[in-house]
Amino acid sequence: MKKISLILLFLCIGCSYQERVHTIIEEDENLLIGINYPNTPYNNLNNIIKMEVDNIYKDFKKKYDFSSTTIEKSELNIDYKKTEFEDYINIALDIHISSITLTKPIHYVKTYFFYKEKQTLTNIKELIDEESIIAIKKSLVKQNINIHYLDNYINQIQFFIEKDQSHFYLNINNELIEFVYDNNNIKFLKPITFKEEIQKVDIFYISNQTLDIHKKYVAITFDDGPSIYTKNILETLKKHNVNATFFVLGNKVETYQDLLKRSLNDGNVIGNHSYNHKWLIKLNKEEIKEQVNKTNEEIQKYTGYIPTLLRPTYGSVNQTLKNIPNMDIVLWTVDTMDWKYKSVSKIVSRATSCLKDGDIILMHDIYKRTANALEKIIAEIKKQGFEIVTVLELKEIQKLRKYEQINSS
Ligand code: ZN
Repeated sequence: MKKISLILLFLCIGCSYQERVHTIIEEDENLLIGINYPNTPYNNLNNIIKMEVDNIYKDFKKKYDFSSTTIEKSELNIDYKKTEFEDYINIALDIHISSITLTKPIHYVKTYFFYKEKQTLTNIKELIDEESIIAIKKSLVKQNINIHYLDNYINQIQFFIEKDQSHFYLNINNELIEFVYDNNNIKFLKPITFKEEIQKVDIFYISNQTLDIHKKYVAITFDDGPSIYTKNILETLKKHNVNATFFVLGNKVETYQDLLKRSLNDGNVIGNHSYNHKWLIKLNKEEIKEQVNKTNEEIQKYTGYIPTLLRPTYGSVNQTLKNIPNMDIVLWTVDTMDWKYKSVSKIVSRATSCLKDGDIILMHDIYKRTANALEKIIAEIKKQGFEIVTVLELKEIQKLRKYEQINSS
């Protein structure tokens, strides 16, 4: 009896602490890496995806690290889409690699259609009837692919099923061919029922602070989240009655909508950190706008809050970013480098050792060590006589001071 309850307890702790999105962000001298991939309740599926991502990551590091021989950085970005059905879960990994050594950036898609009950992957022939597959093949032929050639590729067709339409992908010689089909034109061999969506609520940002222009202020900011460690961070902030600013990734908003609502309710600020951590200044105008707008839309859809702060990925800014309407760019003045330094004491000292009024501290709420360092960081900042505020409050103080200056002169 005792044994069983112990095992159950262990299992429950296991589930509640399971990360739902894995994030790897690295900024090297030569390499920029931004990876987001899902962690589902299904271990078999997780292992398959993790292995794929690990291979891509290692391969990228091996092939594109030219250690200071070039000025231009190489970039790896992995993002994903997910559709959840009653019986299945469908994941598509979207892989982008760009490098000065490539004539054209590499872009390809890997998809997984997972049968929950049997814990196995389903291939296209098991899911879609022969006739529909022939029609899909024909659309590919229209895109100048030889049908005989295609027969060898049939098992390599990647597919992602959405509510009304399905996407089929073929990766041939580093080239991605995509064709979209209306679901009405496809005969599915198995019934696919979608899981219900969750509706939105309205929350607005209200400052908890009475601002006094004669005090000293700093802002703590977190990038790349939310993650499972965000909950811990929110608890620490609340315990010490301080607020922070979280620059989140759009593709994590749906998954962590509860944490975001709670964060806003506590008086924290949510900002925009792009949709999937692409190196924004390398994108064209339209793509940059899409990264920013899509993230704002996700945040508004699930929390009701519309962000006004934008932190560009890797801190790189260009004119397009500066010109985005209603968005203020926020960089940082203190870099904890918590993605690199593994020790709590190092993170605490980097965050607090040379603070001055108006500083913005950069951290990442995707590391346990960062969550663990926060308590000491807050204590040390307060000990040095600073007030901790959000970036919006910091901007408000700057305005108040300017106003005071004009009035007194
Ligand atoms: Zn980042």
